[in-house]
Amino acid sequence: MKRILVTGGAGFIGSHLCERLLNEGNDVICLDNYFTGSKDNIRHLIGNDHFELVRHDITKPYTAEVDEIYNLACPASPVHYQYDAVKTIQTCVIGSMNMLGLAKQVRAKILQASTSEVYGDPTIHPQVESYWGNVNPIGIRSCYDEGKRCAETLFMDYHRQNNLRIKIVRIFNTYGPRMSMNDGRVVSNFIVQALRGEDITIYGDGKQTRSFQYVDDLVEGMIRMMNTGDDFLGPVNIGNPGEFTMLELAEKVIEQTGSKSKIIFQPLPQDDPRQRKPDISVARKELGGWQPEVQLTEGLQRTIDYFRKLIQTK
Ligand code: NAD
Ligand code: UDP
Repeated sequence: MKRILVTGGAGFIGSHLCERLLNEGNDVICLDNYFTGSKDNIRHLIGNDHFELVRHDITKPYTAEVDEIYNLACPASPVHYQYDAVKTIQTCVIGSMNMLGLAKQVRAKILQASTSEVYGDPTIHPQVESYWGNVNPIGIRSCYDEGKRCAETLFMDYHRQNNLRIKIVRIFNTYGPRMSMNDGRVVSNFIVQALRGEDITIYGDGKQTRSFQYVDDLVEGMIRMMNTGDDFLGPVNIGNPGEFTMLELAEKVIEQTGSKSKIIFQPLPQDDPRQRKPDISVARKELGGWQPEVQLTEGLQRTIDYFRKLIQTK
């Protein structure tokens, strides 16, 4: 049995990760400041003897005797990370330094939840890990993009300077149950709009693309990454290479919910990447043949069922 710290554990991805790590027989400390996460996401785990919940902000130091740290704490949706941009940078940079300091102190292995946003508006397609990206350093997305890029740098430098055992995963757009209903991300927006019979809001012309990964596939990839040998640090892309335009996504959601919602077009936010698709050959090779198992139609259905129940009970 390992003692594992999950920062951002009450968030969308963190809650699934905590659940899976507990099911595998580990002791899990879930640390969160509840900025975008919620106790509702992990309520079903409270009471489990192997689960501890800590209210804490990673921009402040924290200590615990742990074997592994998954560093997920950070708002992930553009609406939330832009709400207090300076705080987002603090979380990415000071928060990561605090967690790296903890890993150094207790000799824990530490994994960073990085993002496909480090590629910015990519000029090569699909994105490979060796691509350095095309990021605006002074735009409205920069607090997150540059924050996450700096966090990757910190992880590499702690490894080089202190021989810390680190892992970096670059997560591509992930969706599933427990996404926050109002965080503005495209999958939750479209599903909730469709279920409520509201207009579906496409930003821009809807021809921009994203590759959507179901949360269970990501959790599997992250755990496999943590368990790789000390020589493999990443970064490794974890995502589903299936690529869709936002128009295609809207049409799929309308069809699968049986909604009568209409599609409307709204202005495209500044610096919105035009295309995104992971090259996952490194993950396939290094993570024991890992590949996404849940394709969009099935994953969307599970997510639609979740939001339908949630809306009914509210
Ligand atoms: P989320 O907003 O649901 O979860 C983030 C969690 O971190 C929340 O519970 C929030 O309260 C907590 N948090 C934020 N700032 C904190 C702080 N200073 N101290 C302690 N806790 C804090 O988002 P998510 O989708 O679950 O994302 C989790 C991680 O994965 C993030 O680091 C995000 O950047 C990364 N990621 C997610 C995606 C995606 O598509 N969901 C894609 C790329 C990367
Ligand atoms: N988007 C959209 N309508 C919405 C929310 C988002 O068309 O209601 C678009 C957004 O402009 C972007 C894509 O969907 O092009 C994915 O947005 P999201 O915020 O989910 O993720 P990210 O841009 O960080 O990949």
